[in-house]
Amino acid sequence: QKAEWQKLKNASTETANGVHFELAANIGTPKDLDGVLANGAEAVGLYRTEFLYMDSPELPTEDDQFEAYKAVLEGMKGKPVVVRTMDIGGDKHLPYLPLPEEMNPFLGYRAIRISLDRQDIFRTQLRALIRASAFGQLRIMFPMIATLQEFRSAKAVFEEEKAKLVAAGTKVGEIQLGMMIEIPAAAVLADQFAKEVDFFSIGTNDLIQYTMAADRGNEHVSYLYQPYNPSILRLIKHVIDSAHKEGKWAGMCGEAAGDPIMVPILVGLGLDEFSMSATSILKVRSLMKRLSTEDMAKLTDAALNVSLTNEDNIKLVKDNVK
Ligand code: PEP
Ligand code: MG
Repeated sequence: QKAEWQKLKNASTETANGVHFELAANIGTPKDLDGVLANGAEAVGLYRTEFLYMDSPELPTEDDQFEAYKAVLEGMKGKPVVVRTMDIGGDKHLPYLPLPEEMNPFLGYRAIRISLDRQDIFRTQLRALIRASAFGQLRIMFPMIATLQEFRSAKAVFEEEKAKLVAAGTKVGEIQLGMMIEIPAAAVLADQFAKEVDFFSIGTNDLIQYTMAADRGNEHVSYLYQPYNPSILRLIKHVIDSAHKEGKWAGMCGEAAGDPIMVPILVGLGLDEFSMSATSILKVRSLMKRLSTEDMAKLTDAALNVSLTNEDNIKLVKDNVK
């Protein structure tokens, strides 16, 4: 089977009826690029930049960051690279950035909430990214956006830094600006967000935990962590449809994007980009070759409207996808 998959390394990702989907990889550091290229990814769909901060004894400088972002963009040779701005907080801490003790860190001071508060840190990261944009096809996204105001504020900071760099004569590439959909409030309001973003990337790891109110790492409530629950699937559908209505693209960078039960449903929903760990790419490419978008659209309709449970949907996919 592995040898079969290897043959797909340089193939484009197409379904049985010839529809193309983009398969991208999640990375944590520029070193991960070897695996990305070895597995034939068409893009980097999530670069988790917090590791740049976690692996450093102090705040990484603008130049340190610039070098890392440039290395990834150059390494991908013009293929798209989606970089997520710092997602610290929750379970991720920095020794040199003391965060408040919180009752509910996953509902607390983290990600874009820190970036908008500590604009010194945020602006440094954005400047490094904007400078690196000259070396490839850069897409920037903000994590944990809950409100339109947050997206607008983050975008305004980005535009300010970009204007300063352009005024100083820095070469800047074309940059798409998007957001993660990982908070239910943003998923519900995706039709409004879609008018203002260039793209969405659905973060199911968090979206599922927040929608089901079930900690993604707590085994006592793991039975509630239900990726195929129709409530989750309806949110995902709304996000994808909202993006398409405004002519934008929607991807997914949570674990679900590389999950063989979820992939057929996402193909049925018309998700544009699937970002996963590099080691899943060839397996998913091989699975997609066996699917038809028309059949999957019918299957998905049943998954959203007929099935009542997570388990119904697991069975539905297993019975219909061989
Ligand atoms: C997610 O929440 O789905 C996601 C991709 O982000 P992380 O796993 O880094 O929280
Ligand atoms: Mg997340």
